[in-house]
Amino acid sequence: MKVLVINAGSSSLKYQLYDMTDESVLAKGLVERIGMDSSILTHKPTGKEEVTEVSEILEHTTAIRKVLEKLTDKEHGVLNSVEEIDAVGHRVVHGGEYFKGSALVTPEAKAEIRRLFDLAPLHNPPAIMGITAAEVNMPGVPQVVAFDTAFHQTMEEKVYLYPIPKVLYKKHRVRRYGAHGTSHQYVSRIAAEYLNRPIEDMKIITCHIGNGASLTAVKGGISVDTSMGLTPLEGLMMGTRSGDLDPTVVTFVMNKEDLSISEVNSMLNKHSGLLAISGSSSDMRDITDGWEAGQPNETLAFEMYEYRLRKYIGAYAAAMDGVDCIVFTAGVGENSIVVRENVCKHLTYLGVEIDPELNKIRSGDPRRISTPNSKVEVLVIPTNEELMIARDTLRIVQEAK
Ligand code: ADP
Repeated sequence: MKVLVINAGSSSLKYQLYDMTDESVLAKGLVERIGMDSSILTHKPTGKEEVTEVSEILEHTTAIRKVLEKLTDKEHGVLNSVEEIDAVGHRVVHGGEYFKGSALVTPEAKAEIRRLFDLAPLHNPPAIMGITAAEVNMPGVPQVVAFDTAFHQTMEEKVYLYPIPKVLYKKHRVRRYGAHGTSHQYVSRIAAEYLNRPIEDMKIITCHIGNGASLTAVKGGISVDTSMGLTPLEGLMMGTRSGDLDPTVVTFVMNKEDLSISEVNSMLNKHSGLLAISGSSSDMRDITDGWEAGQPNETLAFEMYEYRLRKYIGAYAAAMDGVDCIVFTAGVGENSIVVRENVCKHLTYLGVEIDPELNKIRSGDPRRISTPNSKVEVLVIPTNEELMIARDTLRIVQEAK
């Protein structure tokens, strides 16, 4: 069974082709600058050389056609024909309250994703473009949608509601939805497998910290709280996003600086976080370099980032009345030795103790960085959202047969 996983953005489309008999990646790639002058397709077949092609790709249907051409190309391909693709899995950002897990693409599912456009105006429309483009290019091939929000649909009302007039929830569905659900679910499952413990008995805090960052409290295998909210702006300090702040900051600044809604949105999403405080970069590598060199702005950015992260870990230990395992994942979580070290150094009250040597090891596999004495297992687990989507796609297509 071969599954093509597609992650469609407004001007980009990422893909990975899996052979699900052994979950190996046959090829992966990316189409960038869709709809612009010269679109770039980068195709990497496993075991063969990467190829890059510049051409005019005006919309997603052409992008997928080009991808399928590459996948079946005599030289760079990995398939004899497109018919070898058994199913397609799509990443969709917002599934609202309707999607509590991945689902087969049906007219009703597509209508529901469209109804959610106002909650994810930048992300759900390109997902629909990706689905439609796949349908046109691969008629009759079953398609599945996997949502960033779905894993968090298990949060209780007391967790997902904001303490504001309830009519806003009833009229506009204003509530907390969370994000990165596929990643939180994946790494929490891998953590339980790695520790050889039943996930049903575990309290896990998963720290997905990349450009965007969120924490999830996973109790008994389900998400009981997560740090992102109505949108991915809530929660941790991120590369360019502010994370938590007093909502009055927004109205106060709008008033003082005469800012529009889109300007203030852009300020909080694109010009805040590490970038705003360091004044130089949103990339944790640059922040760390500046912190190590004793530069004051980068040092402040690093300290704020670490402080806010550790406060959330404390909050989630409280939310679950304990924690057995903390997982670090995504760009910063998987790679930043110093972020992990500095966060864990302040978690001694939980009984966290990491081994500095284990923390320094770089590897693409799940690994433990805590000492045998640590009361909490601390793991680094590379996330793999595409594989999770491919697994869901396989399961749902088989169930539908
Ligand atoms: P996204 O949220 O866009 O999916 P990633 O999970 O790939 O992003 O994370 C990207 C971030 O990971 C970058 O902004 C960079 O700061 C961080 N990162 C990557 N490698 C390192 C490293 N060696 N040390 C610190 N941070 C790193």
